[in-house]
Amino acid sequence: MEDTPGQISETEQQTIHRMDDVLASQVAAGEVVERPASVIKELVENSIDAGAKTIRVEIQRGGVACMKVTDDGKGMSRTDLALCLQRHATSKLLNFEDLFNIQQMGFRGEALPSIASVAHVRICTRRRQDIEGSLLVCHGGAEEEISATGCPVGTEIEVRDLFYNTPVRRKFLKSVETESGHIEHQLKLHALAFPEVRFIFIKEGLVVFDVPATHDLRQRIAEFTGREAAERLLRIRPFSSMGVQVRGYLSPLTEARRNRRQQFVFLNARPIEDKIISRAVRDGFGGFPTGLQPDLFLYLEVEPALVDVNVHPAKREVRFRRPSDVSLAITDAVAATLTEYARGQAAPAPMAEPSRRIIPSAAPVFPVSGGAAPVSRRIIPSAPHEAPEPAAEAEQAQEAPAPPPPLRLVTEPRQQDLELPPAPAPHVEEPMPEEQSRFRHMGVIRGQYALFESPEGLALLSVRAARERIIFERLMEVNKRPVPAQRLLQPALVELDARDVGVAKDLQPLLMQAGFMIESFGARTLRVEAIPIFLPLNKVEHFIMELIVTYSSGETRLRRDSNPFRPFAMHLAAQYARQEDMAAWLEDPMPLLLDLLRCENPYCTARGKPTMIPFPLSEIQRRFQAQ
Ligand code: ADP
Ligand code: MG
Repeated sequence: MEDTPGQISETEQQTIHRMDDVLASQVAAGEVVERPASVIKELVENSIDAGAKTIRVEIQRGGVACMKVTDDGKGMSRTDLALCLQRHATSKLLNFEDLFNIQQMGFRGEALPSIASVAHVRICTRRRQDIEGSLLVCHGGAEEEISATGCPVGTEIEVRDLFYNTPVRRKFLKSVETESGHIEHQLKLHALAFPEVRFIFIKEGLVVFDVPATHDLRQRIAEFTGREAAERLLRIRPFSSMGVQVRGYLSPLTEARRNRRQQFVFLNARPIEDKIISRAVRDGFGGFPTGLQPDLFLYLEVEPALVDVNVHPAKREVRFRRPSDVSLAITDAVAATLTEYARGQAAPAPMAEPSRRIIPSAAPVFPVSGGAAPVSRRIIPSAPHEAPEPAAEAEQAQEAPAPPPPLRLVTEPRQQDLELPPAPAPHVEEPMPEEQSRFRHMGVIRGQYALFESPEGLALLSVRAARERIIFERLMEVNKRPVPAQRLLQPALVELDARDVGVAKDLQPLLMQAGFMIESFGARTLRVEAIPIFLPLNKVEHFIMELIVTYSSGETRLRRDSNPFRPFAMHLAAQYARQEDMAAWLEDPMPLLLDLLRCENPYCTARGKPTMIPFPLSEIQRRFQAQ
């Protein structure tokens, strides 16, 4: 081919090219395969779709080294096996209309090719009617010939060395504990969604759980919460309206905790997180006035045509066609359950549950009268209403509760922590007579700010911000001299969620540095023996758990810089101050002011929020003269 001088050649003009299939799958893998737990999710969903009754999952080194999922489902023919790693190959979706009547977990035909493009994959499968099975091996998307093999009916998929050919993605993975924890959590979700399937989870050669198939949902829940806790759950009145069916279990607020680790919502057997649903549950409770979270195992069945699950590649989000029907059904079911419980009519004894697809027919609509539901209000005295400080409010996640109330108001039968007075007499190390005589306490504004007069003018003190600064500096002093610890009468046991074990391990030395005495007690429990004397917690396990969950969920990050303690102390002080009962400080804020003035930097919190705002007399006089 001859190029005319001055003209660009044909070939140089073309900058667009089609990605080859492996590259396209690796790109798609970015959405579908985020971490080992997402591989497990896809493989287990396929096993469920194949009608498996037993699903066995084995992992090594957080799943990165190896994940093996074995099922006794219907298996694949040799022809299907040859197709299953092709992009957009699915046995579940034939035409566009099917998308609006999805009965199965998968439909995009994307998972297997995506996984195969970023790992070494080995698939053995046999259908009942075949005399021998087939074996397919694939390395980073490059398939080898299919060969015949002996294997039981069903499918076994082994995924080794995840992200071996995409090192950048591999770098994003967290510790082995954290990745294993996410896998375990993912399996727990599947196991809760499908009680009639037996799940076996083996980690580094050890059986973590083996939950037998059951038709009794409460029994499956008990496998994860323990029998006692499961028996305290209230059964949600099966409820059905406008194509939405609601069932499940919940705890009254007396059993509530300060995080959402025990809240599970399934929509047509898919675990989901949805603001509309959280709000509807909250409404059913008549609000969670204390910022506490009930335990919740909520199962929704919505006609497939009324919900779009195809809005997120990993199907974590859904779109409802008629969101208000869904919220209403949930609110009514929750409210009716709590009303009944409050009337002492709820039957707490365990009872057999029908299997997932068979749901008791529509129950009558329960009246949701004004007095309905909030049994919580009866038991937990409502918190003194206190508006959060704007900065503190902005800092909290959207759904996070306003500054929590005094926790001591909650009756928590399981909790036997040391009960300390909510705000101790501040320990004034040395008297500061000159300072004390310079300031005069004038009053309190909006239950948040203390007003002082001094020869220089007026000063407004934010009681909460002041406490945050003081606690922070006390924590930082811990580095210089040992903290006096308060030994608990009974050690507080913090039960960790699988997802939090890795982070808890990272936080433990920091908590020790802060003056807590903490031991690991078994793989899943922290045992708090003592707390720093200046943090008079009255719900130690709640406090530690909340701290761990905020780090584990990524709301706050653990910095690995030269001094990880400083940012940790900042966060610890903020969390403590946010939930401390300020009543005693507001009654007599002078000791607080003196403590604050003794700080190295009294005028703002470590996060930069002001603690005190001065109004100098000169400024006041200038303003009046201007008029
Ligand atoms: P999708 O699940 O969206 O169809 P996948 O890539 O996850 O896409 O799987 C592709 C196809 O491989 C499935 O449609 C199914 O036919 C087959 N398949 C995958 N895993 C299994 C399994 N464990 N048992 C039987 N068939 C399977
Ligand atoms: Mg699938």
